[in-house]
Amino acid sequence: MADPSPVRYYKPAAEFKLDITDVKNFVYDMSRCIKCKGCTWVDHTYMPGPKFMTRCPSAAKYEFDAYGAYGKMRIGHAMAEGRLGWNETALEVLYACTLCGACDVGCKRNLDLEVGLSLEALRVKAVQDGVGPLPAHKRIAESIAQKHNLYGAPSEKRTEWLPQGITPAQKAEVLYFAGCTASYVNREIAQSTAKILQAAGTAFMLMPDEWCCGNTVFSVGLFDEAKALAQRNIDQVRQTGVKTLLTSCAECYRMWKVDYPKVLNISTADLGFQVIHLVEYVDEKMKSGVLKMKKPLETRLTYHDSCGLARLSDPWTPYEGKRGWMGCVEPRLTRRRGNQEIYAKPRDILKAIPGVNLVEMPRTRENAFCCGAGRGVREAFPDFAEWAASHRLDEVKEIGAETLVSSCPWCKNNFAQAAKAGAADVQVLDISEVICASIEG
Ligand code: SF4
Ligand code: SF4
Repeated sequence: MADPSPVRYYKPAAEFKLDITDVKNFVYDMSRCIKCKGCTWVDHTYMPGPKFMTRCPSAAKYEFDAYGAYGKMRIGHAMAEGRLGWNETALEVLYACTLCGACDVGCKRNLDLEVGLSLEALRVKAVQDGVGPLPAHKRIAESIAQKHNLYGAPSEKRTEWLPQGITPAQKAEVLYFAGCTASYVNREIAQSTAKILQAAGTAFMLMPDEWCCGNTVFSVGLFDEAKALAQRNIDQVRQTGVKTLLTSCAECYRMWKVDYPKVLNISTADLGFQVIHLVEYVDEKMKSGVLKMKKPLETRLTYHDSCGLARLSDPWTPYEGKRGWMGCVEPRLTRRRGNQEIYAKPRDILKAIPGVNLVEMPRTRENAFCCGAGRGVREAFPDFAEWAASHRLDEVKEIGAETLVSSCPWCKNNFAQAAKAGAADVQVLDISEVICASIEG
C-alpha cells in the first residue's frame, strides 16, 4: 500500500540552480505558467484607463499569443522536453523581444516564476542548438571580436569624445566606463558625464583599453563570448584598483552589475568594486550639497525608466537549491522583483532643476513600457523598435509633456529617431545633458 504520509509530497525533490546555460533549470517555471497574462497587462490598480495598459512590447506589436511571455514559456517548455523543434517563426518569436523584464515583474506579482531567466536560457539554447543568434546579431559579434565595439568603428577613436579641457587621471578611485554608444554615437552623453564629474571635483580615470561591455552578445544567447568579455573587463578594472565603476548607460550598468556576476556565477558584491550609474552619483552629490542645479529649464518634462536601470538592476546572487511540492524551494530564494533599485533618484534630480514641471506617464517605474531598442531588437527588428518607441511617445503626448528624459543612450537614440520620423513633437534628452546644463548655469 502506498505511504499515505503527506511528508513525501513536501520533501524537496529536484535540484536546480539559476543557471541559464541549461534550459532544464527552468522547465518548472515554464510548465507552471497559468496563462493569466499578468506578464502582458499592467495591473489594473495602477491604470487610470485602458489606453496604455499593456506592459509587453512584443505581444502588443505582434498581437499574437506566442509573442507574449506566456507564449514563449509554452514554446520553451515543449522545446526543453524535446516535443518541439526550431523553425523560422520560433526564432522570430524568441528574438522579437526586448528582454525588458516587464513580464518578469508582472509574473512575480502572481506566481514568482522566473520568466526573464527562462527567456535568456532559451536564447542560450538557440545558440547551443546551432540556430541562433540571427544574422544581424552575428554581425555585431564580429564587430566586437574585431574592433572591440558594437559599431565596427576604429578602436583608436574610442576616446575621441573627450571634451577639450578635461583630461582623465592616470589613477583614481572612480573609473568612468563610457560604453560603445556614448563613445561613438551619443558623445554628448559621455561629454556631459565628464563635465559633471569635473564640476563635482571627482577625479576619474578611463579603462586603459575600453572594450564593449558585451550587452548585445549576452542578450542574444552568445554566452561564452559574453563570459570572455566579462572576465576580461572585470580583470582590467580590478587591476586599476578603483573603488567605483560609473556608467552613464543603463545597459552597461545592467551588464556590469547584474549580468557579469550572472555569467561568472558570482555575486554582485564579489566584483571587488562598486557599480553605479551617473544618477546615483549625482543624487548623492546633490543631496550632500556638492552639486547644485542652478540654471532653469522651463519645461513640462517626463522621465522614462530605462529597463537596465530600473526593474532589471536588482543585484545578482547565485542560487542552488532544491524544489519540492508546489514549487517550494530550499534554501529560501530571494526573488528579484525589480523593486530594489533606482526609481526615486532620477526624479529627485529632475525635480531639483528650477522650472522643471515633472509629470508621470501612466506606465512608470517597474511598469514602464520599454523603448524597444535593446537586447538585439533594434539590429534585427528595426520596425518593431520604432513601433515601440512611437507607442511610448504616444504616452508622452497623452500627458502633454514637451520633453522626454531617460538615462540611457539606447533609449535616447530610439526615441529621438521615432520623434524625427514624425511620432511626436517632443524634445528627447539624456539626463546627463539636463544635469550638465543646469549645474553649468
Ligand atoms: S504572468 Fe506568469 S503565470 Fe501568468 S501568463 Fe504570464 S508567465 Fe504565465
Ligand atoms: S521581456 Fe519584454 S518584450 Fe519580452 S516577453 Fe517580456 S515583456 Fe514582452
